[in-house]
Amino acid sequence: MVKRFDGREYNELRKINIKLNVIDNAKGSAIFSFGDTVALAAVYGPKPSKMSLDYDKAFLRVRYNMLTFSTPERKKPTPGRREIELSEVIKRALEPALLLEEIPGSIVDIYIEILNADAGTRTASINAASLALSLAGIPMKDLVVALAVGKIGEKIVVDLNKEEEDYDSEKLKKDPEKSKYIEYYGEGRATDIPVAIIPSEKKFTLIQLDGEISNKELNDALNLALEKSLEIKNLMKSNILKHLSSSGNFIY
Ligand code: ADP
Repeated sequence: MVKRFDGREYNELRKINIKLNVIDNAKGSAIFSFGDTVALAAVYGPKPSKMSLDYDKAFLRVRYNMLTFSTPERKKPTPGRREIELSEVIKRALEPALLLEEIPGSIVDIYIEILNADAGTRTASINAASLALSLAGIPMKDLVVALAVGKIGEKIVVDLNKEEEDYDSEKLKKDPEKSKYIEYYGEGRATDIPVAIIPSEKKFTLIQLDGEISNKELNDALNLALEKSLEIKNLMKSNILKHLSSSGNFIY
């Protein structure tokens, strides 16, 4: 029977890989991957702010960058509009979970590098940053967990890869090897919905939507995202506990 391009079920995430504290001089760092999409996040701080001390909470700075070798065609090294926008999107997705008022007058920097891109880099980045923030001891209510859900053709799926994001049944009809996938996905194009969630509160801190979808389908997709966010959170949490106990910092 035909399944997704890479053989997954509709509700199956790509393989998740987590590596913690990979950068010695960062306060906390993590690599998070969804299949071939690999994000590295490093947190520096909190350090005293040299800017106005006029705030009652810490100032969060996020820089998202895609490395030149992260895509099949070499990406230009200068940060483009997309990278500047994604830095802001990621910052806004993380901020609601952070207790920045507990470290006033300071700056927390998060540097994110995409080592390899196959769609879903903003969601992998949020997860990597969330892990790095917790390892850095930045006060947080909960981890922020991000993933993409979407509609490909007529099918609701989780964690779209690049081939799925680019789905177009009209184009596939001309491709003898790939046209069989129309049987699985149905007619149409892809709608990508990256989301970020604070699982303990079932609160969405990011919902973006690129494409078209009905209210009912959006509701189904968001419910699927909530369900899968718990799976990702459990994996993130067990990796943190394992890391802290093996590094001798923490015994539960
Ligand atoms: P996200 O990575 O969060 O899904 P986009 O929807 O903007 O964000 O990008 C989708 C995918 O398109 C990326 O993950 C990457 O695989 C590819 N991509 C984005 N920008 C570039 C670029 N400048 N060069 C090559 N590929 C890119």
